[in-house]
Amino acid sequence: MEILLKKYVLKLKHAFGISRESYDYQDTLIISLSLNGKTGYGEATANSYYNITVEKMQQEITSVKKDIEKYHFTTPEDFHKWLTTKKLSNFSICALDLAANDLFGKLKNKPLYKIWDTTLDKYPVTNYTIGIASVEKMVEKMAEKPWPLYKIKLGTDNDIKIVQELRKHSDAIFRVDANCAWTAQQTIDNSKLLKELGVEFIEQPLKANDLKGYEKVKKESHLPIIADESCIVEEDVQKCAGSFDGINIKLTKCGGLTPALRMIKKAKKLGLKVMVGCMTESTVGISAIAQLLPQLDYVDMDGAMLLESDIATGVIIRENGKVVFPDIAGSGITLRV
Ligand SMILES: [Mg+2]
Repeated sequence: MEILLKKYVLKLKHAFGISRESYDYQDTLIISLSLNGKTGYGEATANSYYNITVEKMQQEITSVKKDIEKYHFTTPEDFHKWLTTKKLSNFSICALDLAANDLFGKLKNKPLYKIWDTTLDKYPVTNYTIGIASVEKMVEKMAEKPWPLYKIKLGTDNDIKIVQELRKHSDAIFRVDANCAWTAQQTIDNSKLLKELGVEFIEQPLKANDLKGYEKVKKESHLPIIADESCIVEEDVQKCAGSFDGINIKLTKCGGLTPALRMIKKAKKLGLKVMVGCMTESTVGISAIAQLLPQLDYVDMDGAMLLESDIATGVIIRENGKVVFPDIAGSGITLRV
């Protein structure tokens, strides 16, 4: 296989704020894997919470570049298994796994969702994320993008006030993400008020390892609780079963589509709701997530919608939330620049 790595700096339309930080640009790594005249694309964005930079991924992948070039590619599963024997972060494995899956689909001349025996008859609408900013700015951002479902980032001193204010301007469904910023009691108290304000669930209110806190919250919360920072890799799914109502899988955290498919299966078996979320990826990463849509209860794949300019074409999300799949196999990705 031929492998190419390239760093891009994606400019965001607005500064994106969550409870921990705010940023205007998103660094990302794009990988292409080519074989027999076909090229598959993969992506992993840098993330300060997980201490991952594009340079670190480039360094890791470059160290196994020669092995990858010599590797005899048959299936994404075998390739992923082989990658886990190398000393790579899950973010690097994700970028490679996404490229391998896209390539596999293109070699088979089939979109991935069809390879996985699913159809597009029914799938969830993605939320549009409103990052933390002044209440006025958040109202403005929402008005700028009329949408049926918003994910509101919280973790400020006036979280309830923010949701009350946003509710005055929209009848859409809200979901909130506190990114570890609340205590158990705060979560329980907030859940009652947020339910009255038309919020459907709360994502990751407490710190990632506070499983005791989550057990209490699960018993007393008025809203379902979805794990994000508490559910990183495959082994976490089982751990989350007693303390959460669902999980939000991120491809970069778990190491790509291959482990994500196994996590979805496992979560469903355990009675957990399944969501897949994005990490401000371009259309490369978003098109990969979109292949999982028919298997999901919830999805957060607005990454490319938050960008000032995109670097690829692929799956498109229309204004009404409808997803358009291109007539291209694999994840449907074509790199633009
Ligand atoms: Mg989250």
